[in-house]
Amino acid sequence: MGQDPVEKTKVVQFCQFCEGTGIIKNPDAYITGENPITPCPKCVLPHCRCGGESPYLYAENGKISECPCNPVRRRINRINALFSKSEIDKKYRWLFLSDFNVKTQADNKVKSAAYKIIHSFPDVSKGLFLWGNPGTGKTMISAIILTELISRYAVSGKYLKISRNFFGRLRSTFVEGSQMYGQSSQIERDLAEIDVLVVDDFGVQRDSPWEQETLYNLVDSRYEAEKFTIFTSNNNPAESMKELGGGRVLSRIKEMCYIMELSGSDHREEK
Ligand SMILES: [Zn+2]
Ligand SMILES: [Zn+2]
Repeated sequence: MGQDPVEKTKVVQFCQFCEGTGIIKNPDAYITGENPITPCPKCVLPHCRCGGESPYLYAENGKISECPCNPVRRRINRINALFSKSEIDKKYRWLFLSDFNVKTQADNKVKSAAYKIIHSFPDVSKGLFLWGNPGTGKTMISAIILTELISRYAVSGKYLKISRNFFGRLRSTFVEGSQMYGQSSQIERDLAEIDVLVVDDFGVQRDSPWEQETLYNLVDSRYEAEKFTIFTSNNNPAESMKELGGGRVLSRIKEMCYIMELSGSDHREEK
């Protein structure tokens, strides 16, 4: 069989501007309130003939065709829907890797790790466990990785803060008559199945046995499903989780994640 001539014309030159994704961060979004991501002005917009109007078609000589921008704009809509379901903390919404300032060697190390993950996903063997003092940028870099992965690969992602509120919501699933009654296994299943999960403020020693068990189960379910997970914690897991579940939780986390310490500079003051 000869080479299909149609295939040849499909080969598009790799666009440096958008790294071949066809999508860039919208530099005016904060000012204009426009969509935070937008079709690439170098490789997509010059070919657009629909003016960005849904359903991204154009008419020519009485014939209606799909606009060349169509796949990219549909993908942007999908990414936006995934992003709004991700529950990323308001403070960290739509931040990208270029927004993470490096001040220390630890910052540099975690930024390189993030770069590698973002560019090789889904071929990533391990997630991250980031620990260190509050304000060292753990949550920010985790949210950035989550945002980059949703934006680049249109995967499902979730930011989960381990807080009183989280346990309270889960507990209410056991209360008859509550709106959430009976939904605990659904919540747990959702958390196990999501492609990318950030578990922020993963702490154990202050929690009740039921809360601790909930956290073990969360680690277990991510481990079993072999899903990419990022944990942040104020404590060194090698110390704080040594005894937990006979050391099983720590050994699972070590298998699932690269453990990295972030300390030193305070990122909270940054914009
Ligand atoms: Zn481009
Ligand atoms: Zn178009």
